[in-house]
Amino acid sequence: MGAGHNEEKFKAAIILRSNSKIWAEAKSEWELHLVYDDPAERACECGHQPINQICVIKNKDNNKEAEVGNVCVHRFMKLASQRVLSVLKRVRWDLKKSLNPAALDLFARRGVISNDERSEYLDYWRKRTNLTDEQKAQKNDINVRVLKYADEETARLIANFANHGLKPRL
Ligand SMILES: [Zn+2]
Repeated sequence: MGAGHNEEKFKAAIILRSNSKIWAEAKSEWELHLVYDDPAERACECGHQPINQICVIKNKDNNKEAEVGNVCVHRFMKLASQRVLSVLKRVRWDLKKSLNPAALDLFARRGVISNDERSEYLDYWRKRTNLTDEQKAQKNDINVRVLKYADEETARLIANFANHGLKPRL
């Protein structure tokens, strides 16, 4: 257990925004909304600071949002935040790289890509064979669209943080 990640404090903060007051149930109400890097130093609900990798999680039942650290989301909620964050970095660096299933699921849920596009992309990802020019163009189009959405949504979330002063570093 890394220093400063207070599990009880983290769970209490999430339960406060959940419908169920039982952790095992409350946890399943939440899904990953987006992951982004914010150079402003922030604090997690567990009390750990600073955090730069911000995970925005959303409650599927009551639409409440929480912004927490990558470590806690992975450790206590088992959401694939690290896989999404690292693949976005990889694709941003090289547009020919592939998004992974965790990222495709997330952006399909957001409506950024359609379910058909998600299935086709997963097919390319699984086979790792040479793509036709048309398939390459489709993959490129999806990568560009996902990055654009991630950038815009990140800007919105950071502005939201600045306006509402959510959990700044103490
Ligand atoms: Zn934390």
